[in-house]
Amino acid sequence: NKILVTPSSSSYPIYFSQNFDHILEALHHHNLLHRKVCIITDHTVDSYYGNQLMDVLKRSYDDVFKFIFEAGEENKHLNTIQDMYKFFIENHLDRNSLIFALGGGVTGDMAGFAAATYMRGIPFIQVPTTLLAQVDSSVGGKVGVDFLQHKNMIGAFYQPTFVYVNLSTLKTLPQKQLSSGIAEVIKHGLILDDNYFSFVESSTDLVFDLDEAILEKIIQRSCELKASIVSQDEKELGLREILNFGHTLGHAIETLLNFELLHGECVSIGMVGAAYLSYKKNLISWEILKRIEKVLQSYHLPIRINQLESEEIYQQMLLDKKVKNNKIKFVLLSSIGNAVRVGDLNEELIKSSISYLKSDVQ
Ligand code: NAD
Ligand code: ZN
Repeated sequence: NKILVTPSSSSYPIYFSQNFDHILEALHHHNLLHRKVCIITDHTVDSYYGNQLMDVLKRSYDDVFKFIFEAGEENKHLNTIQDMYKFFIENHLDRNSLIFALGGGVTGDMAGFAAATYMRGIPFIQVPTTLLAQVDSSVGGKVGVDFLQHKNMIGAFYQPTFVYVNLSTLKTLPQKQLSSGIAEVIKHGLILDDNYFSFVESSTDLVFDLDEAILEKIIQRSCELKASIVSQDEKELGLREILNFGHTLGHAIETLLNFELLHGECVSIGMVGAAYLSYKKNLISWEILKRIEKVLQSYHLPIRINQLESEEIYQQMLLDKKVKNNKIKFVLLSSIGNAVRVGDLNEELIKSSISYLKSDVQ
């Protein structure tokens, strides 16, 4: 099973499997044997899957190195990247070497950034192990780190040679992390595909039971949807912006809470804010807003935020790298399955959506 992503700079496949064994065939197919390889992973993922991937790779590679860092968004920083560069140099990795990003979005974003910049770029493979990374962050070529108070402020567009999804890694993923990934899945349905949204809406129990057929279907469909957008607009010159649905508010909240909530949880709250704005602009009905909230809740995602002041959320949004001339760009919905980009919402309206996020759930 595979899906092809075709951005203008290069085209690459996403392979699906239930284990790591088939990765060697893919590496062979892409002419990537006979070189030094380095797995990049965090301590948690290493404890579950580090040796599994290592053992498979050792069947075909003589030199397999492993760089392990402390898990968590707070380590998605240049310091960790510097440690990676030092490790690469110490082990004589060169332009011919190959990097494996084994883990969630934090690992993929950092390993990809290190691969993009070390010696002006060495090839890398995404092996995503969180639902979020499988449905979202491993596809599309955005790599990078946080800097000071800013999410993903330093980075590059750099495509992996391929993505290898081992679906069975989800068995060890904590439920909160599963929900966090589902937030991006719900996003894909909301902005691009109403049937898919309905399917996800009615699959809660099966998803939490880790039903393999359902998860495979979800991951494939989300990858397809994201791949089609990225293929049309690799560098986010226009269309790709719709993938930021829920992220304008979401990133601000994520930063202000200092990563107390997971990425998908913040995106969930942000999507409610954006859906509320869509309602206020007469684009969607109150019933649709409530339907969206209900689906998010059914997946144990937060839909309100009480911890923060409205003004600080607004000010943080203004700091986002996508803000130009103090105009905050929003992605709204014109219906379930259709997104519209707007750049001219006034301050008062935006603040009303923040107030809504601080109100009680009705
Ligand atoms: P993460 O990489 O921190 O993983 C979450 C936690 O789950 C970590 O503690 C990790 O150790 C653990 N974990 C990972 N796989 C596991 C498994 N199979 N079993 C048990 N535990 C496991 O975070 P994430 O949620 O995967 O990704 C969030 C990051 O992705 C954010 O930094 C966000 O900015 C980024 N992101 C990037 C893009 C992109 O396009 N590049 C898109 C969306 C999100
Ligand atoms: Zn996201």
